[in-house]
Amino acid sequence: MNRDEALASVRQDPHVSVLIVGAGINGIGTFRDLARNGVDVLLIDRADFCSGASAASSHMAHGGIRYLENGEFRLVREAVQERNYMIENAPHIVRPLPTTIPIFRIFSGLLNAPLKFLGLLDRPSERGSLVIKIGLMLYDAYTGRQRTVPRHRFMNRQESLDRWSQLNPAVVHTATYYDGAILQPERLGLELILDAEAENARAHALNYVSLHGQDGQSVVLRDDLTGTTYKVMPRILVNATGPWIDLTNRALGCETRLIGGTKGSHLVLDHAELRQAIGEHEFFFENKDGRIVLIFPLYDRVLVGTSDVAVEDADAVRCTDEEVDYFLGLVKRVFPTITVSRAHIVFRFSGVRPLATSRSRTTGQITRDHEIRVVESGQTGLPFPIYALVGGKWTSWRAFSEQAADKCLAQLGITRNASTRRVPVGGGRGYPASAEERRRLLAHLAEDLHGSDDRAEVLFERYGTRALEVARFEAAGVGAPMPSLPAYSRAEIEFMAETEKVVHLDDVLLRRSMLAMLGRATREGAIEIADVLAGRLKWDSARQEAEISRTLQILKEKHQVEL
Ligand SMILES: Cc1cc2nc3c(=O)[nH]c(=O)nc-3n(C[C@H](O)[C@H](O)[C@H](O)COP(=O)(O)OP(=O)(O)OC[C@H]3O[C@@H](n4cnc5c(N)ncnc54)[C@H](O)[C@@H]3O)c2cc1C
Repeated sequence: MNRDEALASVRQDPHVSVLIVGAGINGIGTFRDLARNGVDVLLIDRADFCSGASAASSHMAHGGIRYLENGEFRLVREAVQERNYMIENAPHIVRPLPTTIPIFRIFSGLLNAPLKFLGLLDRPSERGSLVIKIGLMLYDAYTGRQRTVPRHRFMNRQESLDRWSQLNPAVVHTATYYDGAILQPERLGLELILDAEAENARAHALNYVSLHGQDGQSVVLRDDLTGTTYKVMPRILVNATGPWIDLTNRALGCETRLIGGTKGSHLVLDHAELRQAIGEHEFFFENKDGRIVLIFPLYDRVLVGTSDVAVEDADAVRCTDEEVDYFLGLVKRVFPTITVSRAHIVFRFSGVRPLATSRSRTTGQITRDHEIRVVESGQTGLPFPIYALVGGKWTSWRAFSEQAADKCLAQLGITRNASTRRVPVGGGRGYPASAEERRRLLAHLAEDLHGSDDRAEVLFERYGTRALEVARFEAAGVGAPMPSLPAYSRAEIEFMAETEKVVHLDDVLLRRSMLAMLGRATREGAIEIADVLAGRLKWDSARQEAEISRTLQILKEKHQVEL
C-alpha cells in the first residue's frame, strides 16, 4: 500500500490493535516486532522516520563501557549482546569498530565507582589504565560465546606512538577494544519498516502524520501534507515519541513528567590529515574537563562529539558556537599537532536524548537504561492504556522493542510466535558470509549493471544485498550518473522515491542518503534530485520549488549548511 492507500484504509476502518506514535528507532522496533507476530499495527510520525533523537546519535553500537562505573551491569550486558546482534543482522550498515582509548594516568579513577555507589560523586576523576583494564575485562566477558568482535588489547606508550605517529606523547597507554559503527542509522530504521510491511499486510507506517489530540473515544491524527484529520480507535497506544513523550501524553489528556532530556551535538569534518591520523579507529576519551568525547571515522569524514546538556525544549536545539569551539579544541588533547578550524566543518547536528527524569548530580550520570511507563485508561478517560517507551540507547532498540511488544501481546492475549533476535534486516538479508560469496555477488551485480565493477561496489556498500533491487532500476531506467552528483544515478533516486516512502526532498538528502551529512549536498544536486522526485511523486513546478526552498531552509537552520 502506498501512503494514500494506507490513509484511505485508516478512514475506512479506524480500529487497530496497536497504534504506535513516533517512528524513531524504538517505535520502529516495536512496529517490526508486532508485525512479525501477526498483529495489526499502525505506526505514525509527524516528521520523517528516524528524524528525531534517532538521527542525532554518535553512530555507536556500544555497550557503554563507562556505564559500568555507574554499576549498570544489566544495561551494559544487554547492550553488548544487542551490539553483536546488530553486527550479525545488519552487516551492511553496522560494522565492527575498533575503539581506542588514549590513557594519560595509571591509577586514577579507582574511587569513582564506590563514590558513585555512596552518592558522593560530583565529578568523576580521570580514569587511569587500571580502572579501564578492569572495565574492558568485564566488557569482553559480557560478549561471552557470542564472539562477534575481537577482545581488547592494551599497548604501552612506545607501541602506541609507533602505531599512531601523531598521538599525544603524554599518553601512558592506549587500550583498543571493539564496538560497532552504525554507519547509516536512518537507513537501518527505514529498512526495518519496509521489512515489517512486507511481512504483514496489516502493518502500515506513515510519515508526516501527527498525533493531533483525542475526542474521548478515539485518537485524532492529522496528515501534515493535506491537513486532513483521521480518527483511530486503538486497543493500545504506544507512545514512542522520545523527547516529546510528555507533550504527547498531554495531547492525550494526561500530565506526566517522564522525560528529562539532554542535548548532544556533533560536527562532521572534512579533514584529510585527521582522517588519516585516526585510521579506521574511533578515539573515545576523556577531555580535559572530564567529559567523554569521540573522534569517529564516518566514511571519508570525521565525526566529532558530543555534548550532554539538560534542555527543556527538544524542538529548539542547535549546535551552538560554544559547542563548536569545544569540539574543535578536543582534538588537540589526542592529536596536538593537528589543527582543526571552522573551515573543516561540513555538517552540524543536534538532538535530545530522551532520558528518564533524574536527580543525578551530572548529566553524564543519568541512566541510559530504558523502561515502559504505563498510563492506565482510568487516568485519561480513554478506552485504551498508553505504554510510554522512556529512555534507551540506539544500540538496545531491539531488546527494548521486544519488551514493549511482549507487553502489547500480553494485553491483546496473543502468544509470541516469532522472535527478532536473529532476523536479518533489509540489505543484510543474504549478506555474503565469505570473501568468495562476496566476490560472486558483486560479479552478479556488475553483470546486472552492464559490467560496471565500480558501480557494483558502490551500490553494495550503500545498500547491501538490496543493491540488486537498485541495479534492476538502473537496468530499466536512466543508470547514468547525475550531472552534479556523479556518485548517484537518476534511477537510484527513482528507486528511493518508488520504494522508500520519500515524501519530501530533504528525506532523500538527509536520511535516504548520506549526501548532506557527509557535506556532499549542493544546490544544483538538490535541484536535480527534486526534478527526479517530481516525475515519480507527481509534483507540479510549484511543489518542486517549495521542496527546494524547504530543504535549503532546513539545512541552513538546523545544520548551518548554506547551499
Ligand atoms: C547526541 C546523542 C548521541 C547519542 N549517541 C548514541 C550512540 O552513539 N549510541 C546509542 O546507542 N545511542 C545513542 N543515543 C541515544 C539514541 O539515539 C536514542 O536513545 C534513540 O534514538 C531514541 O529513539 P526514540 O525512538 O525513543 O526517540 P526518537 O528517535 O526521538 O523518536 C521519536 C519520534 O516521535 C516523533 N513525534 C514527536 N511528537 C509526535 C507527535 N505528536 N505525533 C507523531 N510523531 C511525533 C518525532 O518526530 C520522532 O521521530 C544518542 C542520542 C543523542 C541525542
